[in-house]
Amino acid sequence: MTDKKETKKRKIAFPHMGTISYAWAAALRIIGCEPFIEPYTSKKTLSLGTKHAPEAICLPYKLILGNFIEAIEGGTDYVAMITSPGCCRLGEYGKCIENALHDLGYEAKYIELQLYDGIKGMYNFLKEASGKNNPLLFARAILIAILKVFVLDKLETTHSYYRAREVHQGDAEKHYLKCLKLVDETDTILGLKNAGKQIAQEMKKVEINPNKEVLHVDITGEIYVVNDEFSNQNIEKELGRMGVEVRRSLTVSSFLKDAIIPKIFRKGETHLQRADRLAKPYLMRDIGGDALECVSDVAYANERGIDGIIHLSPFTCMPEIMSQNIFPAMRENCEIPILPLILDEQTGRAGYITRIEAFVDLMRRRKRKRDLEIKQKDSETNEKNVVTN
Ligand code: SF4
Repeated sequence: MTDKKETKKRKIAFPHMGTISYAWAAALRIIGCEPFIEPYTSKKTLSLGTKHAPEAICLPYKLILGNFIEAIEGGTDYVAMITSPGCCRLGEYGKCIENALHDLGYEAKYIELQLYDGIKGMYNFLKEASGKNNPLLFARAILIAILKVFVLDKLETTHSYYRAREVHQGDAEKHYLKCLKLVDETDTILGLKNAGKQIAQEMKKVEINPNKEVLHVDITGEIYVVNDEFSNQNIEKELGRMGVEVRRSLTVSSFLKDAIIPKIFRKGETHLQRADRLAKPYLMRDIGGDALECVSDVAYANERGIDGIIHLSPFTCMPEIMSQNIFPAMRENCEIPILPLILDEQTGRAGYITRIEAFVDLMRRRKRKRDLEIKQKDSETNEKNVVTN
């Protein structure tokens, strides 16, 4: 007789952060588990996390704890947490969350994914989550999850391009959501390749104004709040509405290139390698979190002559407090406007949007002034050439 308990799939919940759930879900499905996806992060998640977390801890901790409480209440069997060593609180997050859930009387099993152990850490995680030891199956799960992250990050960039230029507001988002579905529906390499092509076709359906005056902005900061639309109050959508094309400096795919993907499979300079190169005059070593990357992102955005950079950080985030204190010193060499935004459960929407609008106004005026100066210079040069000839 088959034991019912053994045939039942393990339900596994994980922290939400932007579109990362699509990659988690694919890996868990491939190893024979059931991904526990919804509910997504909401105000309820935030208030649950805030209620049971130390007051001064950073926002991602509160949201992840809230995700887990909701998942356990919803019937998940396991919660999967990402951990890593580090100079900031991230190194303690895992144990703290496990203890908090235990103190609240929850019995769901807790599993950790040791991120900085690279492929080995992922393998050990899949082994524990599935209760199996199947290297081929795990290799496929890791590969598909990584490929999905890359496809999704590319999709976000394409979405941002179309959203800033769309003729009918909301059109780009409508097609973007269809593309997300395409990515979610396939768990094979060939399927993802085809999804990539279909995405390009789908997004081309958005009617755009190619002559629109579009501003270019980079978003950097702590990786969780940069990639999680709930915690950053969907800043990219707001900027898109104002005609701004956004490029995220910190993406999950760039993180994977540095922390997970073996060197022989990488092409070009990684984000961390660029950070080491460009942050040096201002910050000499890694101080935890994403501070080194953020400082270098400002220098990189300035080097490319883009219109501005927004720095997002959770309130009390130690590495980002450091990077925000370095930005004023960078102004000596970097002309680029920087908008630092601090996020926590108290962040009010109206004030937040007003600051973004004021920043966009400033960038637009600066860009028009610069364009005018270039035009004047060009016409002066042309006049001189006419006289000489
Ligand atoms: S980087 Fe900042 S927000 Fe993230 S865990 Fe460390 S202290 Fe908290």
